[in-house]
Amino acid sequence: MATTDWKTDLRARGYRLTPQRQLVLEAVDTLEHATPDDILTEVRRTASGVNVSTVYRTLELLEELGLVSHAHLGTRAPTYHLAERHHHLHLVCRDCTDVLEADQTIAEPFARQLRETFGFDTDLKHFAIFGRCAKCTGQGEPGEEPAQAP
Ligand SMILES: [Zn+2]
Ligand SMILES: [Zn+2]
Ligand SMILES: [Zn+2]
Repeated sequence: MATTDWKTDLRARGYRLTPQRQLVLEAVDTLEHATPDDILTEVRRTASGVNVSTVYRTLELLEELGLVSHAHLGTRAPTYHLAERHHHLHLVCRDCTDVLEADQTIAEPFARQLRETFGFDTDLKHFAIFGRCAKCTGQGEPGEEPAQAP
C-alpha cells in the first residue's frame, strides 16, 4: 500500500503543508480509523502545543484537499482515513464492536439500483453498516470467502 503518495501528490498540485498539518496527516496515516481525539494524542507526542481545535481545522482542510476522508462508525466522533485507502464499507458488530472492512464493490449492485430507481448517488462508505459478526452469531470464524453465484 502506497502510504506516502500524498506527498508527491501535494507537491504536484503546488501545495505545501505546514509541519503541524503534516503531523496530523501522518497521524491519520499511522492510526486506523482514528477520531480527532486519537489524532490529537498522536500529534502531541511530537508537538505538545497542538490543541483539539487545530486538529479539527486541519482535518477539515485536508478533507477539502481530498487527502483524507471520514466515516461514522457509531455514536463516537467521525474517524479518519487517508482518502486513497478509503474504498471500503465498514461492518460494525454491535456485540463485540469489531470493525470489518468490506470492499465497496460488494455494494455496487445495490448502489446501481438506487441510482436507477431514484437517481440517487449513494456514498455507502460514509456510514457504517451495523449488525453482528460471524463470531457473535456463532457462525464460526470469518475468513472464508462467501460462495459466489457463478
Ligand atoms: Zn475504514
Ligand atoms: Zn460525515
Ligand atoms: Zn462480533
